[in-house]
Amino acid sequence: MSNRTKTLAVTAGSRLATRAVPVTPAIHMAAVSHFADAAELDAALDGQDFVYTRIRGENAELLEQAVAALEGAEACAAYSTGMAALKAVYEAQALKPGDRVVAPMDGYGVTRALLAGLCEADGVELHALRLSDADAPDRIRALQPKLVVAESETNPLLSVPDLRGLSDATHAASGVLAVDATFVSPILQRPLGHGADYSVHSTTKWINGHSDAMGGVVSGDASRIEPLRKARVLSGAIVGPFEAWLTLRGLRTLPIRMAAHCEHARCVAQALERASHVVSKVIYPGFKTHPDHDVAKRMFVNGFGGMVSFELRGADRAASFRLLEGLRLLRAAPSLGDVATLVMHPATASARRLSDEQRATAGIGEGLIRVSVGLEDPEDVAGELIAAAERALDTKGAGSR
Ligand SMILES: *Cc1c(COP(=O)(O)O)cnc(C)c1O
Repeated sequence: MSNRTKTLAVTAGSRLATRAVPVTPAIHMAAVSHFADAAELDAALDGQDFVYTRIRGENAELLEQAVAALEGAEACAAYSTGMAALKAVYEAQALKPGDRVVAPMDGYGVTRALLAGLCEADGVELHALRLSDADAPDRIRALQPKLVVAESETNPLLSVPDLRGLSDATHAASGVLAVDATFVSPILQRPLGHGADYSVHSTTKWINGHSDAMGGVVSGDASRIEPLRKARVLSGAIVGPFEAWLTLRGLRTLPIRMAAHCEHARCVAQALERASHVVSKVIYPGFKTHPDHDVAKRMFVNGFGGMVSFELRGADRAASFRLLEGLRLLRAAPSLGDVATLVMHPATASARRLSDEQRATAGIGEGLIRVSVGLEDPEDVAGELIAAAERALDTKGAGSR
């Protein structure tokens, strides 16, 4: 072993002599590994061991095993972001000019923009349907799409499609169904059990749960995930080791967190419903008045999720912005699934890439506020939202703000 400083700086401290197995996995930040046996290196380059982190990564695979287990899936592929995961699913279909894709009309705006760009470049027709409508399966049968992308609970209107109806119709047309279940997490729904071919998550949200790592996952049968892994070696979209490690750490408490998020969201929705002087409508799939309540009861287990949306009574954009700015305890931030409550204005955040007309058709108005209910005491969350709404609408007289 050389004793020269530059050599030592590069080689010392790279291996420990230990047989201890840590109770939490190590973070494998090495981009490349070496093997004493050249034949082993050769096999590793064929994917039989870990040698280069774009091909396979220890932390990515541990996360994939955990997600696959929660999803009841044979396999999972993890990506650097949810968008990278969705793009990979689209690309795996090798669509040709004239093929059709169906996406939710009231879904995540960035997904809509991604699919619009990809479809346009490929000469593929993109059809936006409200997948929670009772006639959505018939419309899919008529369109004969190669790919249907659905969301388990749409953003921000929290409509809930019947995945069984969608998967039967999609398969009758020889298409595949990909379900983005980001909003509900695998604790509330396993899309594969309802006939979906792919279950997709932005792990950035509930699965990680702490807003400190980006990531995405796709789960399904091994025959569907293997081509995704192969393509990922070329696209370079694999999740990084530290992000995978953080996400796995977050996932450990997902069932416990989701139980609390569901309970807290129910309390907050009920309190907002009672605050009719400032709130004209509460959107929460756990309410009997929600148009998809019965579907949600069939589609979800363990609760109705952590999301609540509401209409600030008679509000324009300025009043909604006053509500966001008037928050003291809670944070106005355009994401969801965090341990802390996150409040946002969909018209200027998740749906900002939609045209005014698309937003109007989807039913996303300027007074709509979306809440990802966190783990604070729900009385505090509801109290703060109602107080901020009162200040934004100035219902307590001029100067109270
Ligand atoms: C956030 C989100 C995405 C995108 O995930 P990123 O990790 O931000 O790339 C996709 N779908 C839904 C429903 C989301 O909420």
